[in-house]
Order: sequence, then structure tokens, then C-alpha cells
Amino acid sequence: MSAIQNLSATPPHEAIVSITRLNKSFGAFHVLKDVDLDVGRGEVLVIIGASGSGKSTLIRCVNGLEMYQSGRLTVDGFQMPTQADREIGGEKELARIRRGVGMVFQQFNLFPHMSALDNVAIAPVRVRGRTREEARASALRLLERVGLRDHADKFPGQLSGGQQQRVAIARSLAMEPHIMLFDEPTSALDPEMVGEVLDVMRELAGEGMTMMIVTHEMGFAREVADRVVYIDHGRILEIGTPAEIFDRPSHERTRTFLSRVL
Ligand code: ADP
Ligand code: MG
Repeated sequence: MSAIQNLSATPPHEAIVSITRLNKSFGAFHVLKDVDLDVGRGEVLVIIGASGSGKSTLIRCVNGLEMYQSGRLTVDGFQMPTQADREIGGEKELARIRRGVGMVFQQFNLFPHMSALDNVAIAPVRVRGRTREEARASALRLLERVGLRDHADKFPGQLSGGQQQRVAIARSLAMEPHIMLFDEPTSALDPEMVGEVLDVMRELAGEGMTMMIVTHEMGFAREVADRVVYIDHGRILEIGTPAEIFDRPSHERTRTFLSRVL
């Protein structure tokens, strides 16, 4: 396959996520097929593909939200247990991996009964054993970073979608992840709020955060991605720089997909 021959199949830096021949099924339905993918430390990798092609499933495997049946997936050097491993109690590695992986979803999933500040501060207290004061102080700094310091005491219902998603990003960052996963973080937003969320993501990328991003924002992908992966029916059909994928895709199917979304 050209994905393998293409030099861009190699990440720019040492791999933080390494995926080899990953296969994942839901019952009899084979969703991810022999996926090979390395993500370099500090790399921004954008995943594109039609609805139902397996993009969410792939990134959900990276933080163990979905189980895979075969292949190998390591994050930060730790091996993600397969479904069979997990059935015999491989949960320890899973917890260790999850601590280093942040995830932002299309639906922000904030706790509705907590202020923005408490949404950001809660996990470091509960999971990391930080004191309430420490956690609140760093939560304030994070809210500042996403431009929401003045909204710290508001509840999610008092914030716009774009603001809620920025709180969700701050909440993920509070766990000091080594890699951030984004699953269509702007798809649920009104168009006028997309930019403010992409701005925060752009800034994170500039600070060197490793990111795997599923998005339909092709302009953003072209500008921010180190590499773009095109997934077709659960297979990586091609992977390359934004210029390679957007300007000279090697597969007809990639061209067809792009002509529909661009
Ligand atoms: P994408 O994010 O690219 O739209 P998904 O990874 O969500 O695709 O889904 C890939 C395929 O797996 C789809 O056909 C979807 O219906 C199926 N799928 C996703 N989650 C489940 C599940 N929990 N059980 C069964 N099938 C699922
Ligand atoms: Mg999806």
C-alpha cells in the first residue's frame, strides 16, 4: 500500500503512540483493519474520513475507551491491553496510560451542576490527590489560558457552546496529559464559535502538545497538521503532509472524499 511506502508514514519525532496491525471489531463487524500508525512526540496528526469509517473508534482505542482484539498499541511505552488481556485483569496498564491521555469530545460532557472552575479542578483532586487549593489555583491558570478566567464561576448552562468546549479543553489539560485526543471538537458548535475553539487548539499545538484530531475543518487541518491520515472503511488509505493529502492525493477515493468536503 502506498501508505507504507510513503515517507510520511514515519512521524517527525520519536513515537509517543505506536500502533501496529491493530484490528477492532464490534461483534462480527470488523471496524479497524490492520491499522499501522505512529504519532511522534509533539506531532499534530489530523484524521479525516467519511462518517462511519472508524475515526472515533481509532482514537478511542488510544485511551482505552474501546477495546481492540489484535495487534499492538503502545502509548508512552506502555502497552494498551487487548480485549483478551482486559478480560483477565489488564486494568493496571490501562489506568497508567489513561492518566497521560486527555480527550475532548464533540459533546463537551461538563458536569452541569459545577462551576467552570470546579469542572477543571475536580479530577486533579479526586484522581491526582492534589489539595483543593492547588487544584483551584491551577484551574484558574488553565481557564486563563483558554480565555475564560472571567467566567470561572459560571455554570455550563450559562456558557456558550464554544466557551463550554474551551472549559472541556482546560479540564483535560488539568490532568497534565502527554497527548490530547480530539473527536470532532467543533462539530456541535454554531459556526461563529468554531474559531475560538480552533484558536485554543492552534495555541496548544504551537506549545508542542502531541495531538490526534478528528475533524472536518479542512482549513484548520491544512494549517496546523504535521500529517493528515485518510481513513476509508477502517483502513488507513493514505497518510501524508497536508500538501500531499489535500493537493495531490494518490487515491481516487481520497479525491472523491475531499471533493465532497472541501
Ligand atoms: P466515525 O467516527 O469515522 O464516524 P466510528 O468509529 O464512530 O466512525 O464508527 C465506525 C463504525 O463502527 C460505524 O459503522 C459504526 O456504526 C460502528 N460502531 C461504532 N461504535 C459502535 C458500537 N459501540 N457498537 C457497534 N458498532 C459500532
Ligand atoms: Mg466519529
